[in-house]
This record gives sequence, C-alpha cells and structure tokens, in this order.
Amino acid sequence: MLYYSTRGLDVSKNFSEVLHSGLAGDGGLFVPKFIPKLDIEVLNKWRDLSYEELAIEIISLFSGDCFSKSELTEIVHDSYSGFQHELKSPLIELGNNHYFLELFHGPTFAFKDFAMQVIAKMFAKTLQKKSLKINIVTATSGDTGSAAVEAFKDVSNVNLYVLYPHERISKIQRMQMTTSNAKNVKVFAVQGTFDDCQSIVKKLFADKALASEVNLSGVNSINWARILVQIIYYFSAFYQIKDLPNGKLSFSVPTGNFGDAYAGYLAKKMGLPIDKIIVATNKNDILDRVFKTGVYRSNSVSKTLSPSMDIQVASNFERLLFDLLNNDTKEVGKLMKHLSSKGHFDLEKRILSSISRDFDSGAVTDKDTIATINHFFNEREIILCPHSAIGVNVGKKFVDVGETVVSLGTAHPAKFKETVESALDMRIQIPTALKGVVEKKERVKVIPPSKEQLADEIRKSYLRAY
Ligand SMILES: *Cc1c(COP(=O)(O)O)cnc(C)c1O
Repeated sequence: MLYYSTRGLDVSKNFSEVLHSGLAGDGGLFVPKFIPKLDIEVLNKWRDLSYEELAIEIISLFSGDCFSKSELTEIVHDSYSGFQHELKSPLIELGNNHYFLELFHGPTFAFKDFAMQVIAKMFAKTLQKKSLKINIVTATSGDTGSAAVEAFKDVSNVNLYVLYPHERISKIQRMQMTTSNAKNVKVFAVQGTFDDCQSIVKKLFADKALASEVNLSGVNSINWARILVQIIYYFSAFYQIKDLPNGKLSFSVPTGNFGDAYAGYLAKKMGLPIDKIIVATNKNDILDRVFKTGVYRSNSVSKTLSPSMDIQVASNFERLLFDLLNNDTKEVGKLMKHLSSKGHFDLEKRILSSISRDFDSGAVTDKDTIATINHFFNEREIILCPHSAIGVNVGKKFVDVGETVVSLGTAHPAKFKETVESALDMRIQIPTALKGVVEKKERVKVIPPSKEQLADEIRKSYLRAY
C-alpha cells in the first residue's frame, strides 16, 4: 500500500516512511491510495477472531511489506499483553440498544494506549532494521502524552518530547507524564492551549532545516498509523453485539482532534455496517458547528471538565475533507490556505449533505456532563469519565429515536478523579497503578508557546542519527 499527502505534493510513500514522518512534507496529512473494501464473507470470517488476530488482519491490509506476518504478530501480542481485560475492549450494556465500549483497560487508562503501544513497537522494529535514530515530538491534551511516555520509555533509538497545555489537564494526567524517570523522555508545560502545542509541533515540522537535522517524527493522530490501529476496536465492538435490530449500528465518539471519529468512518468505508458516526463535543464545538452550518472556524479554546477534548483545530478533519472533495488535493490545499489566512473555510451544500450520510453530531455543556455522570451512576452504578459521559449523553439521544448506539468509553474515571468525585459527591476507587503515580517526584519545564524555544531545547538533547 502506498500513501500520499492530502495536499498532493508528497507522494508514493510506503508505510514505514509514513510512520516515521508523522506530518507530510507539504503540511498535509498522509492518506492511503485506497481504502480496502471487505466483502461479507470476510466480515463473517473475522467474527470469531481474538482482538489480536483481528488487529493483525486489519493492520496488514495497510502496512504493505513493512512487517512479516511473524513480526506483526509479535508487535501486536507485545502491545496488548499489558492490558487488564482479556477482551481488551469489552462492550457492556448501558440500556436497551445502548452499549458502552470500554477503551480504558490499557496501561495509562485511556484509549490512546490502543494505538500508541502498537506504534511504539513498530518504531522500535523499523528503526532497528535500518539502524536509525529518531526524535519524536508530540502535543497532548493529556492522554496521548501519558500513553506515549509509557509506550516509548524503553525504546533506545527514540527520544520523546511531549508538550502539554500548562494547568489545563488533570493532575493524574500530568503526573503520569512528569513522574517518568525515562532518560529518553522530556516533558514541557506550554503556557497556552492544546492548539498552541499542536501549532508548535506543526511549525517544527515546517522548519525543514531542523526537521532533517534532528530527524523529527510525530505520534499525534496526524500520524496515519495511529488512525489505522484505532479502526480495530470498531470491528471488535460490532462482533460483540449479539442482536442488532435493524442490522446497523451507530457509534457515538467523544471528539477533539477527530482522530477516533475518523477511524470509525474508515471502518464504515471498509464495509462494517455502521449507520452514523456521531461526533460528540464539549463546548469546544467546532465540529458540531461545521456539520450543522458548513462553516469551519476555530474559536478560542474554552476550559471544560473534559480537558482531553479542549481543542478547536480538529486536524484530522483535513483527511475527511480530502475524501469529500473526491481526492482533489488542489482543492484541499486551497481550503487549508484559506483557513490559515482568513481563519475559516466554507463547505458547499453538496458536501454538507454528503457529510450527513455518514455523520451526526452534538455538543454537551459541563452541566449536562455532570448530570449524565450522575444519571448513569444512580441508574446503573456505572461511573463515567467526563469525556465518556459526553459520548453517552449524545448517543442516548439517538437511542431514544430508535438507533442502536455504541458509545465509546475513552478514559477511566479515575484519571479525572477531582471532577468525577465532585460530580457524584463521593470518593471513587483509584486503580493501584494510578495510586503510585501521585507520590512520585515531578520533572517538567514550563515554557512559553514559542516554537523557537522548543527547537532550542530539542537541539540541546536530541539523538543524533549517526
Ligand atoms: C484524545 C481523547 C479524546 C478525543 O479523541 P480525538 O481522537 O482527539 O478526537 C476523547 N476523550 C479522551 C479521554 C481522550 O483522551
């Protein structure tokens, strides 16, 4: 399988090149030449596979000759061996026709572990083969960073630089990153929002001299491999449902950077009988607004109770745009240019109606997030994290009008202990692995939202390729 950029100037890359580069050379995002369409026999055949077997099938559709079957098997099994649940992504019932996919049984208690574990092992394997060293920089709204620190901490040919928005993530999220003793990890608290962090990362990549000098790579969901690995649990959820009334189901996805929701859309394109991907946002509702009005315009970021979704530039939307514009890379480039110069772009009616065939959306206030956490605790004794509560809140509206919905549980409630305890007015249980984190010493450097300062920090400590 070959890949090219949504903006058309970076073409014919193979899987390992795409894995290592993160962002495309022209500022666009890598997409595969085509999305394989599975027929019904294959879909039926996969029904009885384990999570790991399913992962191997799906990844190998996209990874070309990058890994042998036995290498991929080893990568996948190593990646999921640390998960606390046998099914990896167990599905529970919240109510009639409403399911909840628990994606927080990995080592850092959020769905980011699913892909980060796998890509860290892919990096280790491919770098070792080429005797290469790489420096990874990643922006995080909280969970990507902790998943990356955990996944890359022992990878000897990788340095990891993590940028999170200062005082805008939960205490446990922060401490999962800052208490790592790994020598190859450096954590920076940026005085700004997640969007500022992501913008620094994009500027570092745009600095061609730096990017090649330090062999820069990225593991945000702008990295195609992350998206690919997130497709797997949509299939896993489908196979866990025994009774599907009208043969189709929808997924409600708590959304920030549009990575997870886009992975669900790809699962649909591959042939999984999905009706809608329901994009659930907090007050940072850029995607809800674009789906309803066709105008993509970032506002300033609001602080909410669901910090991992406090994002106003949904990077992966560019991949959907590319698809909606029938792979017209010139047109994508034009719209993205308009966005950076004018602060917005507008979608034609025809595009908006094609979006509505695959997507729906809703935005949830902090007040309703708290009400949802209370509702499901009182009714079912299920404790939702604030992000998962947003997905469940929006998902339930669709269940009420007759759809079968799987809401994604994106993080464990204990990661957002303060918010959940104040919502429920009681203490909640903290998993043992998280308890240890808050007793360790923190190591972090607070920096202004400046690309130059970070470039200097990287130049001081990066791993030289040769
Ligand atoms: C990252 C994250 C999200 C948003 O996912 P995107 O792929 O960025 O849309 C939602 N919930 C939690 C808990 C997260 O960590």
